[in-house]
Amino acid sequence: MSQSLHSHLTHHLETYHAHQTEFHQAVYEVIEDVAELYEDNKKYQDWNIIERMIEPDRVIQFRVTWEDDKGDVQVNRAWRVQFNNVLGAYKGGMRFHPTVNESILKFLGFEQCFKNALTGLPMGGGKGGSDFDPKGKSEREVFRFCTALMQELSKYIGSHHDVPAGDIGVGGREIGYMFGHYLKLTDNWQGVLTGKSPLFGGSCGREEATGYGLVYFLENMLNAHDKDLKDKTVLISGAGNVAIFAAEKCLHKNAKVITLSDSGGTLYFKDGMTEQQLAEMKELKLKKRGRLSDYQGNAEFKKGLKPWSIKADIALPCATQNEIDAAEAQMLFDNKTIAVAEGANMPLTAQAQAVMLANPILYAPGKASNAGGVAVSALERTQNAEMRGWKLERVDEELKTIMQDIHTRCTENIERVEGLYPYRKGANVSSFKKL
Ligand code: GLU
Repeated sequence: MSQSLHSHLTHHLETYHAHQTEFHQAVYEVIEDVAELYEDNKKYQDWNIIERMIEPDRVIQFRVTWEDDKGDVQVNRAWRVQFNNVLGAYKGGMRFHPTVNESILKFLGFEQCFKNALTGLPMGGGKGGSDFDPKGKSEREVFRFCTALMQELSKYIGSHHDVPAGDIGVGGREIGYMFGHYLKLTDNWQGVLTGKSPLFGGSCGREEATGYGLVYFLENMLNAHDKDLKDKTVLISGAGNVAIFAAEKCLHKNAKVITLSDSGGTLYFKDGMTEQQLAEMKELKLKKRGRLSDYQGNAEFKKGLKPWSIKADIALPCATQNEIDAAEAQMLFDNKTIAVAEGANMPLTAQAQAVMLANPILYAPGKASNAGGVAVSALERTQNAEMRGWKLERVDEELKTIMQDIHTRCTENIERVEGLYPYRKGANVSSFKKL
């Protein structure tokens, strides 16, 4: 990036988006990759494309007041960032986590625009959430929070305007509570949220989609480099639906999943997770919402540790942003990991990404490799619009094709470097051009 573009960008970010470090990180990453294209194209500069792309259409902030089980009144802050709707209605999840703030949601909304563009489906980008912490809350408390949030959010969404879904802390249960309240408020059934249960208008395969899509993308990436997944050892971080369904698809492909992790530490399956253990993980983490440290089966719990120091062929970070720093990225490379594919959004710090880019290792950015979730959300909207529900096989076939198309879009604008495709640049250039 030229010095003048860099200082212009820095000035803009510091003036309009001061102290929003995650948002700055996501913007610098994209602009670094498209700077050459931008600077060679006078029309982009004439129309001030970069400034227009990094400024969200609007950020809506609101208060959510709810009552806990003791009868005390609680107040949380919530947002909806409607980033860009040039390609379709705003689309992106809602995150409930104590770390949520405007910077996090703007980085996620910005990334979502590029991710959604890569799918080739008609969706703009948005994101929302709240600093509400679902951990330790009773089911009734989560219910009361979700309905209180929808009381306000309902004013800003619509099936052709803004269509939220899930993200960290928001799964089928929360979507169900929010959707139910939307119906009460409006009496107007429309596909205004995705990630609904297939029992009331959701798509089969939506829960699995991000994890399965990640492994489909990984397969495409490996195949393009004359490699495959069979018998490979895989480190997975996280233990939510992305991590668990990525693990499931790895097992289907005869790869060996050797870790999952949560905020307490890493669960290490020395000989690879079995189908039986996978079922136990689903029960423990997705149904009971328990901790990995409570697992009684045949696996070693490494308290306080992340998976990255364990030697393996492939790493799939599926937990959260900035979970891999430069030292951990270097550790992966030194351990001869051949591929890193992001299931989470921006799980590598800027410095960790730099390690990936400087070394001969396959590296897939989340906006490409984790797009399967939002892609099946788009299929859910299609099913809602035609008032039909598709069979799982059809959804899965479409997902495979979409992930393959994303892989093609990531590679068609770039040349291999030392035999490997630089996927980050490929993803950023392709989606920038589209947007
Ligand atoms: N939160 C998911 C993502 O990061 C899914 C969004 C959606 O389905 O709209 O892409």
